[in-house]
Amino acid sequence: MKNRHFFFIIIILNFSIQAQKLSKTEKRIVNLVETNDKEAILLLEKIVNINSGTLNLEGVKKVGDIFSEEFKNIGFSPVWKEVPAEMNRAGHLICELNTGKVLGKKLLLIGHLDTVFEKDSPFQTFNREGNRIFGPGVDDMKGGDIIILYALKALYQSGELKNTQIIVAFTGDEEKAGEPIDISRKALIDAAKRSNIALAFEGATGLNYATVARRSSGSWLLETKGIRAHSSGIFNDKVGAGAIFEMSRILNEFYIKLPEQNLTFNPATVVGGTMVDFDTSQAKGNVFGKTNIVSQKSVVAGDIRCLTEKQIQNTVVKMKEIVAKNLPKTSASIKFELTYPPMQPTPGNYSVLKVLDKISQDMGQGEVKAFDPSKRGAGDISFVAEYVDGLDGLGTMGGGSHTPKEYMDLEHFKELTQRAALLIYRLINEKEDLKL
Ligand SMILES: [Zn+2]
Repeated sequence: MKNRHFFFIIIILNFSIQAQKLSKTEKRIVNLVETNDKEAILLLEKIVNINSGTLNLEGVKKVGDIFSEEFKNIGFSPVWKEVPAEMNRAGHLICELNTGKVLGKKLLLIGHLDTVFEKDSPFQTFNREGNRIFGPGVDDMKGGDIIILYALKALYQSGELKNTQIIVAFTGDEEKAGEPIDISRKALIDAAKRSNIALAFEGATGLNYATVARRSSGSWLLETKGIRAHSSGIFNDKVGAGAIFEMSRILNEFYIKLPEQNLTFNPATVVGGTMVDFDTSQAKGNVFGKTNIVSQKSVVAGDIRCLTEKQIQNTVVKMKEIVAKNLPKTSASIKFELTYPPMQPTPGNYSVLKVLDKISQDMGQGEVKAFDPSKRGAGDISFVAEYVDGLDGLGTMGGGSHTPKEYMDLEHFKELTQRAALLIYRLINEKEDLKL
């Protein structure tokens, strides 16, 4: 306990020395976030207690309505963007602020209203235990949504939202995006096309890391065929190796030849035999086969994650080459489906990181470095990465996301909101680079 107090004193001292580096206006912004802190947590409690599982359209809309009111109160114009009814998704909340001639960077701030916890989940309520708040979506990412709102609120209250354009996009189906993707992500992409920089507030990976890159995600389906025959004839000229040996050859070669940095590929399910059925939408299969019959068909379903478009293309070429070198009397084919494009580690993303790094140091919170993209899944920012510079991982600190133990760490909530406010402030005041 003693040590802990000592630690806090050091932090406070350090903060007060470093805080000198913030301008007068910035100090005012930081103080406003502090003043609003209790109110922010109360609002978080209110929205966590409303179930907004992706398929609970009414719940998602309800959380959206609350945010809509809040953003209206700080000068934004909220619009609910519906998606076609057959997609069975709630739609998205898009709130825009335009205050005169834009002088700095145009920002897109990304959050999501839905959670993975549907109405039938036992995990439904906000529960504070000491410095931790447990609750569905508290970290992924209602906490991050609250950071966006309260960062902007502090800027609004200090009169710093002038000559700027900011679009807040809270999607209603991040956890289970509606299909087709180009329709479900249209509102987000349209907003990005009118912006310079996207900031996404998915869970933070500590105070000293932010995300400049996220890997793509996609799936592949491999099918092999062999000749159905009596097992005693396997390997002879007429029968060949059978579908299962061909499938195992391919997977083995993937395992040996493909590995490289930032690439993963995971065969998740395999079925093989004489009669094979595999339903990709259900991820379920049926199979019949006998030990004395050479296998006729096999199906493998897997995923693939890459850091860059180039890595995707190269890997797909390599996988297809391996698939094409069939064992005797077999054939094989592979299909790919890309769901999330990559957010590539561009110089532009690093330049946004640099602004955050400077703020963190000015606040006495140490350096901010780029988080290892192989440790992070895909996110909504990936869809806009090709149009804007971006940074992700600006949300709350916590853990256990997608499990009934999901929590948010209250200890750094205020600091994360303060640095978000300053990041927005510095970016909207950052003049466009002079193009000579
Ligand atoms: Zn999320």
